[in-house]
Amino acid sequence: MRMKRILMTLLCIATCFSVIACGENENAPINAPGTQTPGATESVPTVAPTSGTSAPKPTQTPSSGIAYVPQGEENYTVELDPNAEYWDCPISQVGQVFTHSLIAYLEMTDLATNPESYWRNECVTVSEFKRFLQSVYDKGYVLINMNYIYEYKEDTDGVLKAYLKKSIKLPKGKKGLILSVDDVTFNPWQHGKGRVDRIVVHNGRLASATWMNDGTVDYSYDREVAPIVEQFCLEHPDFSFAGAKCMLAVNATFGLLGYRTADSFEGKKDYDGTTIRVAEEREEAKKVVTYLKNNGFYFACHGYQHIAVNTFTAAQLREEFRLWNKEMKSLIGYTSIYVYPQGAWADYGTEQHNILLSEGFHVFCGTFMGETLMNGMPKSPGVGNIFTQRCILQGNTLRLYGENGKADGTWFWKYCDPYAIYDNDARYHKVQRPA
Ligand SMILES: [Zn+2]
Repeated sequence: MRMKRILMTLLCIATCFSVIACGENENAPINAPGTQTPGATESVPTVAPTSGTSAPKPTQTPSSGIAYVPQGEENYTVELDPNAEYWDCPISQVGQVFTHSLIAYLEMTDLATNPESYWRNECVTVSEFKRFLQSVYDKGYVLINMNYIYEYKEDTDGVLKAYLKKSIKLPKGKKGLILSVDDVTFNPWQHGKGRVDRIVVHNGRLASATWMNDGTVDYSYDREVAPIVEQFCLEHPDFSFAGAKCMLAVNATFGLLGYRTADSFEGKKDYDGTTIRVAEEREEAKKVVTYLKNNGFYFACHGYQHIAVNTFTAAQLREEFRLWNKEMKSLIGYTSIYVYPQGAWADYGTEQHNILLSEGFHVFCGTFMGETLMNGMPKSPGVGNIFTQRCILQGNTLRLYGENGKADGTWFWKYCDPYAIYDNDARYHKVQRPA
């Protein structure tokens, strides 16, 4: 009964809050988060200890008739330092937070002057993001790769599934944090309005490039999530466990990492007036992807078009993945992680969910004011494959966590004090800590 109650609470809260992030909904809910943190440990099945480096058996066709396609599933393994001390961090202590690409150039935005500014809700400023990083570092979190939290097992129905581990080896006393960034595309319509334009490798380091109004290109190591995380980990090497940085959830319609990799851009004008050649854009994007993957960043599928997966017909969703596989898989490679566009998930057993499985996805990420990490789906726990909801780091949720959240060290407060993170200097909407 307790499990049922927790799940009902989870579903209710998730319904309230899942639309906040990554979406087109500008009206942030004003409800306070629920009082019950969804239990992760209750739904963690018993799993065998982490095995070595051998890959599991190929995926097989399940009895339900879903045509599973082997996609390269392999257990993620790390090499432990024989001279270091580790502990078994319970999986329930692994946190997960997502944000969007940052508000990079405050002076280009109307964030401080317009109460309806686009930037007020779904993004954080550079200062807010850096304060968050410092806070989670100070609280003993280390960045981990999301693929570290599960291992593949062949289920009783003969299908390969991802199962949460009970615990993960981490440096003694440290807790794992899965940090992800959604929509890392840098849409052309955001050009000149406060975002950077693309991720580049500049002087051997991750940087952003932005075409300024005066015709110059500004290269910066300090204005977007990936370069800032790289710099922070250079300064604090113990913040990155086994080299892990953060997950980049990408969709394809507007390109990848700011490169115009979609066929629809062929022949169009770039920011500097030159003509876009998609083949060249793809080559440039590949170089940056290679650098990112070699340096601990990893990718998740965030849909081809960034449309809520539960609104697709089966035929539409198959077309979505035909395009994804054609345009994106050749750039970023295989990923087992699917980040629901607009935070809307497809229930277990639905045709949409079955198609996601058949495309090789085993880990599903939504958004939530709290967080969830469990095997199965909310209505169908324990069915194998991982379902997660991530805490949301963005303008409207910082206000909500501060004003309505739980200041008791759970929920978002275990990562940081929202009042200390929130950038009152940059924002029109001020937040005042209660007396
Ligand atoms: Zn999104």
